[in-house]
Amino acid sequence: MLDCAIIGGGPAGLTAGLYTTRGGLANVTMFEKGMPGGQITGSSEIENYPGVTGEITGMDLMMPWPEQCQRFGLKHAMVEVMKVDHNDDGSFTIHKGDGTSEDALSVIIATGSTPKRAGFKGEDELFGKGVSTCATCDGFFYKGKEVAVIGGGDTALEEAVYLSNICSKVYIVHRRETFRAAPNTIKRVMDTENIELILNATPEEVYGDKMGVNGIKINTPEGLLDLQVPGVFTFVGMNVNNDVLKKEDGTFICDVNEAGEVIVNLRMRTSVPGLYAAGDIRIDAPKQVVAAAGDGAVAAVNVIPYVDEVKNSREK
Ligand SMILES: Cc1cc2nc3c(=O)[nH]c(=O)nc-3n(C[C@H](O)[C@H](O)[C@H](O)COP(=O)(O)OP(=O)(O)OC[C@H]3O[C@@H](n4cnc5c(N)ncnc54)[C@H](O)[C@@H]3O)c2cc1C
Repeated sequence: MLDCAIIGGGPAGLTAGLYTTRGGLANVTMFEKGMPGGQITGSSEIENYPGVTGEITGMDLMMPWPEQCQRFGLKHAMVEVMKVDHNDDGSFTIHKGDGTSEDALSVIIATGSTPKRAGFKGEDELFGKGVSTCATCDGFFYKGKEVAVIGGGDTALEEAVYLSNICSKVYIVHRRETFRAAPNTIKRVMDTENIELILNATPEEVYGDKMGVNGIKINTPEGLLDLQVPGVFTFVGMNVNNDVLKKEDGTFICDVNEAGEVIVNLRMRTSVPGLYAAGDIRIDAPKQVVAAAGDGAVAAVNVIPYVDEVKNSREK
């Protein structure tokens, strides 16, 4: 029986791993379906992690985190978790993608979030064939070419600036007149010569053939605009990864809000004793690395006394 199962190895899960093991829990496993580091490893630049100055990629930032955790005894299982059951005796069963399962006294769910699809015609069909949500992963394919970026938040603007260094021109398509991003990021966009803004505009349809995207049609106040670009990058928000908490009947093992975000208190406790949530998956998450890491620490320091108490009561 694990003392704690941590599901997800992004900033929240890794920090939870560091604090649980360093805080004395002997038997903690972090279940991560890919390489640890989380979604920030796909970001070209992070400039708001405290204490980190200079240009640094998300991958650079996250690289040392797993090793730091392993020093204190965190075990890492590279496997997808399919489902978490809450058992009658208060423990949890972690069902893994390889068909096996493990039991745990407590769980920290830190499965994060995934970029939303924007919802225009052709997006799903051409996803991965010219439509992308990751500029660092796919930007290089469009070296010297024109691309479109859909969105108007911090991530959209930061990634547009990144793409402007690779591509000949970047069109930012945004449904409003103004951006919801940090003033510094907006200034960088405005100061970049090969970025053109298409405002009050929404994508109608991305089109292409077997070879990939050929262009995107945009609804603008002046009428339908046909941008003949081979690459379309969408940054329009995130969906939380809460599938592992779903029961067979589609309801959740703990309380969630209408967006499926896990409801927690200030200790990152969910409505189920022993189940904690940290990072992007929880309600009101600012969806930032520093906040996810903070949540992981908060969850961990509260899991430790919970596990001690359960063990003591089981020994009696
Ligand atoms: C392009 C981009 C740019 C960004 N820029 C910034 C920035 O400049 N500054 C900033 O602070 N934040 C930024 N963010 C946001 C930041 O990355 C997230 O807020 C943060 O990573 C959330 O951490 P997390 O640990 O909650 O979740 P995630 O980072 O999403 O990690 C969750 C992990 O759980 C794993 N997982 C999911 N489901 C399962 C499962 N069933 N079984 C096993 N493993 C699973 C995933 O593989 C993933 O590794 C950016 C995000 C993106 C996408």
